[in-house]
Amino acid sequence: MIIGFGSGVRRAGRAVLDLLLPPLCLTCDAVVDTPGAFCPACFRQTGFITPPCCETCGAPFSRAEAAVGAARRGRMCADCQDDPPPWGRGRAALRYDAQARRLVLPLKYGDRTELAPALAAMMMRAGAELVREAEVIVPVPLHRTRLISRRFNQAALIAGQIGRLGGRAVVLDGLVRVRRTAALAELPAQARAVEMDRAIAVRPGRLERLRGRRVLLVDDVLTSGSTARACAFALMTAEVAWIDLLVAARVSDPRRR
Ligand SMILES: [Zn+2]
Ligand SMILES: [Zn+2]
Repeated sequence: MIIGFGSGVRRAGRAVLDLLLPPLCLTCDAVVDTPGAFCPACFRQTGFITPPCCETCGAPFSRAEAAVGAARRGRMCADCQDDPPPWGRGRAALRYDAQARRLVLPLKYGDRTELAPALAAMMMRAGAELVREAEVIVPVPLHRTRLISRRFNQAALIAGQIGRLGGRAVVLDGLVRVRRTAALAELPAQARAVEMDRAIAVRPGRLERLRGRRVLLVDDVLTSGSTARACAFALMTAEVAWIDLLVAARVSDPRRR
């Protein structure tokens, strides 16, 4: 009976069937040895970001860029040099390409929560030092307009898994969206940045858990960086000691899109 199930059914009932059947690859229907693994073909097409990369935004450097950067600019990319982000260090596990979308989007839309521990494990490798030195992990809060259509905050799911894997405290509701930002697209870039910077705040009841602590901010995807900036500014008002950023995937060159 079980052998007759199509892969769609298998995915849908995966949590139960994984107890009975061999595990499937994270991004295709190939059978793999352990849950949360890629098959060899999918592993090869996964865009893991490895050093050298920008110290503050995690953008991968080519060997040539790294060599020039080391000599001329330190370990930050040109964009971060021009407009330094308001956090200390930034790391991303993956380039946000078609393969990364196969990991991030099914988690985001809620039908494959088992992707959260898999992404967290990849982020643990990319940001090992950041996790180790963090005292508190805080997820980027879910966009208020999206709460209606989703059951959970994917960044919070990932943050919880990183906390579990790294043995770190997690404050899942440390940050909160304080105003709607849906109309931002209509504003000029400068006004949009100012609006966004005020769109997120530390939840008053969590101030004492964050004050004076080294905080690791966690999100699924880093695109323009404006949401992470807003989170960092909010954390600064709580007088945290330090802020690092760890994301599952980053758009390769967001500011030039
Ligand atoms: Zn595969
Ligand atoms: Zn950078």
